[in-house]
Amino acid sequence: MNKSDVIILGAGAAGMFCAIEAARRGRRVTLIDHARRAGEKIRISGGGRCNFTNRTVAPERFLSENPRFALSALSRFTPAHFIERLDQAGITWHEKTLGQLFCDGSASQIVALLTRQMADAGVNVQLGTSVQSVTKGECYLVETDRGPFHAERLVVATGGKSIPKMGATGLGYQIAQDFGLTLTPTRPALVPLTFAEDLLAETRTLAGVAVKARVSHGTTGFVEGLLFTHRGLSGPSILQISSYWREGDEITVDLATGRDILADLKTLRTTEGRLSLQRALGRFLPDKLAALLLSRTGATGRLADQPNARLEALARQISTWRIRPIGSEGYRTAEVTLGGVDTDTLDARTFEARTQPGLHFIGEVVDVTGWLGGYNFQWAWSSGWAAGQAL
Ligand SMILES: Cc1cc2nc3c(=O)[nH]c(=O)nc-3n(C[C@H](O)[C@H](O)[C@H](O)COP(=O)(O)OP(=O)(O)OC[C@H]3O[C@@H](n4cnc5c(N)ncnc54)[C@H](O)[C@@H]3O)c2cc1C
Repeated sequence: MNKSDVIILGAGAAGMFCAIEAARRGRRVTLIDHARRAGEKIRISGGGRCNFTNRTVAPERFLSENPRFALSALSRFTPAHFIERLDQAGITWHEKTLGQLFCDGSASQIVALLTRQMADAGVNVQLGTSVQSVTKGECYLVETDRGPFHAERLVVATGGKSIPKMGATGLGYQIAQDFGLTLTPTRPALVPLTFAEDLLAETRTLAGVAVKARVSHGTTGFVEGLLFTHRGLSGPSILQISSYWREGDEITVDLATGRDILADLKTLRTTEGRLSLQRALGRFLPDKLAALLLSRTGATGRLADQPNARLEALARQISTWRIRPIGSEGYRTAEVTLGGVDTDTLDARTFEARTQPGLHFIGEVVDVTGWLGGYNFQWAWSSGWAAGQAL
């Protein structure tokens, strides 16, 4: 009989981290994953360099029905703790923007480090193993295509539904429901937004154009890159706002990003009034985008001939472009899944289900979702570490 102290389902960031911690504390740990390689999302993350954490981890950068739930784990295992592990292993890194930390070399270095640490700690890693059922009798029983596995404790670290092609499934949510835990609604997040056919017809020629923009939804806004695509909008500012946007809502795009575009146009009208509107806007925006914005306001001709009201309308179009996306690209391309196992059903220190002793949920399967920028991996490390101390 294959018996251990702990079975962990999911050899992603959270599952591997938890396995290392528990095994270092003397627990016999079996880690099961249906994928043939561990840590596939780490490997492809951050453009192959893994944005493994962020210097400014704070609860308001996480979405959850209870944002304070994440505080305990995030403050016990911090970005500094993870950085220390990389430093000890000689994995060099750099800060890009907005506190985002990336490997200098490759994301595979982190996977190799975790794999080595699991081996050193004696974790029994079962890859390429399909889970058939999970039940609880005297202990937890996981039936797989490679036979049964038993343990006193079961940790579910199967992640969200994002990118099914990479092995994402809804198994974690199913297990939670089977054991009577509640879920908060799940939806794709950190995902490109799509346009209806009429808006797409207008913007299609812009596919590939990238600019800096402030994109907002209600009182939440992000100033980062924005990219026009063949389907709608992408880029970091859009991925960020997608976590807040809901079907039917508008987003506001400010292409002036802090610049007083009206004042600038008025100054140009005085100093270079012979400039065409197209060339004047071309000073601030890519030509194709300038042309689209002009056509939306119907403005043409030389700058000198534009009355204030026309410039005001143009400035409004540039700094307050209201767009109503029709949807998102969905789980096919979403970086994460919003929602998940209801935090009310879990202990914030141990991640154990309040009503189901010995059953823990960590990482993305839990209703805690970070902003873009390394927050989601930090959540995986912190929750994995915290559960690992409690097993
Ligand atoms: C393209 C992309 C880029 C990203 N870049 C970043 C980044 O740079 N920084 C950042 O912070 N976050 C990034 N993320 C998000 C980050 O990858 C996730 O938040 C993180 O991997 C979640 O860790 P996890 O361990 O909870 O789940 P996962 O890493 O998704 O691991 C879950 C594991 O469970 C296994 N599993 C699932 N279902 C089953 C089943 N039925 N049976 C057995 N095993 C199963 C999977 O094979 C997988 O190995 C990115 C995501 C994507 C998709």
